[in-house]
Amino acid sequence: MGLLFIEPVFKEAIWGGTKLRDVFGYTIPSDTTGECWAISAHKNGDCRIKGGEYDGEYLSSLWEKYPQLFGNYSKDQFPLLVKIIDAKNDLSIQVHPDDAYAAVHENGSLGKTECWYILDCEPGTEIVIGHHAKNHSEMESMIRNHQWEAFIRKIPVKKGDFFQINPGCVHAIKGGTLILETQQSSDITYRVYDYDRLSDGKPRQLHVEQSIATIQAPFEQPVYDSSEEQLNGAFHSHLITCPYYSVDRYQIDGVFEKEFLGYFTNVSIIDGEGTVNGEKIKKGMHFIIPAGSGLCRFEGKLEMICSNPE
Ligand code: ZN
Repeated sequence: MGLLFIEPVFKEAIWGGTKLRDVFGYTIPSDTTGECWAISAHKNGDCRIKGGEYDGEYLSSLWEKYPQLFGNYSKDQFPLLVKIIDAKNDLSIQVHPDDAYAAVHENGSLGKTECWYILDCEPGTEIVIGHHAKNHSEMESMIRNHQWEAFIRKIPVKKGDFFQINPGCVHAIKGGTLILETQQSSDITYRVYDYDRLSDGKPRQLHVEQSIATIQAPFEQPVYDSSEEQLNGAFHSHLITCPYYSVDRYQIDGVFEKEFLGYFTNVSIIDGEGTVNGEKIKKGMHFIIPAGSGLCRFEGKLEMICSNPE
C-alpha cells in the first residue's frame, strides 16, 4: 500500500497574504490567500490525490470507496482537516460550536475542536485565546456592549508553541502568524467581532446570538497530555490527545523508522527535505499513511506534524 500524497486546496481571505507562496512555494490564487487546506475531504475544499494508483481521485471518494485505507474508521465522513493559515492581518474574533450544538443548529454538521502549531510569527505577536468574563451574563453584556479590549484574553506567541482550542473557546489568530491547524472536519465559525472591517465593501456577517449561546464562561484552560522523548533518528514531541485527534511532531535527523498504528496518519512536512520509503519529500508536502502500512522509513533532515483520528 503506497502513501497517499495530497494536492492542497487554497482559500482567499481578506486577512490573508503571500506566505503560502513565499515560505512553502505553493501556487496561490492571489496575494490575499489565507488558507491552504492541506489534507481535507470537506465539501468546501476536497483535496485530490497526487500520483500513485489513485492519482486525481478526490479524498472524499477514496474515503467512500476504500474504507480499508483508513482502517475502516466508523464515522461516515473523513474526520479531520489539516490547514496552513497565513494571517497577514487579524482574523475575526470567533468561536466554534461543539458536535451537539452543530447537529441541532447546523444541519447535522460536526462541531469544531481545533489546535494550532505556530510555524512562525513576527516578534511581539499575540493571539487571542479565551476571555476575562467571570460568568455567562458578564460575557453576554461585554459582547453586547462591544467591550472588546476588556473581554478578550491575549497571550504572546512564539515559533513552536502549541494551543488547543476547544468548542466554546473564543479565539482569534492575529496578524503576522503562520499556523498549522489540525481540526475536526467542519467549516462552522461564529464571528463575534470583525474589527468593523469591510469585505467587498460590506461588513462580513456576524453571529452574535450563536456566539453568546456557544461561548463558555468563565474561560477554562484546556489540559494537555504533552510529552517529549529522544528516539533513534528523531526527537518526538507529543502535543496532545483529545477526543477527536492526537497530534505529534517529529524532528528527524538521519534515519528514522516507525510503524504508525491507529486508523491512518496525516503527515505534513513543515521543514527540511529527505525521503520516505525511498520517495522524495520536502517542506510543504502532505500525505496520508494508510492503515496497515507497516514500518515507514524516513531519511534526511525533516520536521513533520502528524495527526491521527481518535
Ligand atoms: Zn477557529
